[in-house]
Amino acid sequence: MDSATIAAIATPPGEGGVGLVRISGPEAPAIAARIFRRGKHGRAPVLTRAESHRLLYGRVVDPATEQTVDEALLGWMAAPHTYTREDTVELSCHGGPVPLWETLRVVLAAGARHAEPGEFTLRAFLNGRLDLAQAEAVLNVVSARTAEGLRLAVTDLGGALSRRLRPARDAAVSLLAFLDAAADFPEDEIPPSDVDADLAAAESALAEVIAGARAGMLYREGVQIALVGRPNVGKSSLLNALLRTDRAIVTPIAGTTRDVIAESFNLRGIPATLLDTAGIAEASDVVERLGVERSRRALTAAAAAILVLDGSVPPTAQDVAVARLLTERLAGAGRGPVPAVVAVNKRDLPDRVPQGDVLALLSGCPIVELSSLTGTGIAALEDALAALLGGEAAGQVRPALITARQHVALDRALTHLRAAIAARIAGYPLDLLATDVRAALRAIGEVTGEAVDEAVLTEIFSRFCIGK
Ligand code: GDP
Repeated sequence: MDSATIAAIATPPGEGGVGLVRISGPEAPAIAARIFRRGKHGRAPVLTRAESHRLLYGRVVDPATEQTVDEALLGWMAAPHTYTREDTVELSCHGGPVPLWETLRVVLAAGARHAEPGEFTLRAFLNGRLDLAQAEAVLNVVSARTAEGLRLAVTDLGGALSRRLRPARDAAVSLLAFLDAAADFPEDEIPPSDVDADLAAAESALAEVIAGARAGMLYREGVQIALVGRPNVGKSSLLNALLRTDRAIVTPIAGTTRDVIAESFNLRGIPATLLDTAGIAEASDVVERLGVERSRRALTAAAAAILVLDGSVPPTAQDVAVARLLTERLAGAGRGPVPAVVAVNKRDLPDRVPQGDVLALLSGCPIVELSSLTGTGIAALEDALAALLGGEAAGQVRPALITARQHVALDRALTHLRAAIAARIAGYPLDLLATDVRAALRAIGEVTGEAVDEAVLTEIFSRFCIGK
């Protein structure tokens, strides 16, 4: 890390109530003195003598001309009680692109360097305020898409992931200490049973976090659910019922195909995207075949499916055709089996016709009777979907919001621990375990940040925004 003072606009582009330029580093007070003026006489602030964590009202000026750039509030936070643990100045300006760019320009001219993406958080890590798992949790906080996803990320920000890994780390450290001692004093007084207990403790702590990773993926990445069925069974109506405004997710989701509509909603805290094949009028053969074709496409992308049937009329050949598509995915063609729920719609209508032909094809799938018009059965559909997505969604596993990089490292740690356990069972001498235990410890350190190299740090922090 260089000791330069860095600066960047910390608020998103566009117009808003306020915008923030953040300055961090030893020169922050001096830069503030160059570009900030207070009161009628335009006094420069002497922050090193000012009380920390206070706001000062004044103007940002271009020191070359003493012209006012913007009216602003200056927040002064002295090291070490700051985000980066360095002296920090935050300038709250009017939230427009021009006042912010002009403010940044004079700050840079006064001696700051423009921050790289994630550099403020990188400094928080390098200065020991956050461990690496906490720094990566910052990304999950910023990009959370549901309140539940945010809750998980904020817990990790407080160090929850590192705490969950601590038993594994502590057990590995104590094992290594013992193994080193045992190598020096072959007849050590520590009973060998401690070795097994330590290995078991480390293994179960790691396995627990890894088991939570799939659930964490659900909360962070969300899940795509295909809404399939022939025209007129009520897919659009069901989509609307599921998207009731209080639960719609505003984040636009990329990756939808041209004629499949994608809408996001909050499924028990999981950001779920419905791939809707609706919007096809019932008419000619061609259009009907198109309907089946669209269902096929929505299914290819989905992790789960809802097959909608009209429970007030007998199943048609097209219902059967769409159900067949599902059985292909159920049987594992292509991307593996897709868990599906059958939604028998229009329950509010007096005529209920058995859907035997279709249901027989999909034996084993949960069936929910519902009405998209009245909302009856929608909650049951959500229960069934959550159950399909696994114990994770039903809250039986404690989710872990880990990145692919962290996942790979933890898998490696677990592999080494299991190798050590196998070596114990096979009765190999203790000193042969040390290599595996050491490798496991190093892999855990790659998550908490005790053992990472520069390239990994660069890769991680490049995913942050500038100013974060
Ligand atoms: P899609 O073509 O599958 O998207 O079907 P739509 O959602 O457009 O619905 C087709 C017709 O069925 C519309 O006239 C809806 O009002 C009606 N409909 C949809 N769901 C229900 C329901 O639960 N009960 C009743 N009675 N009518 C429904």
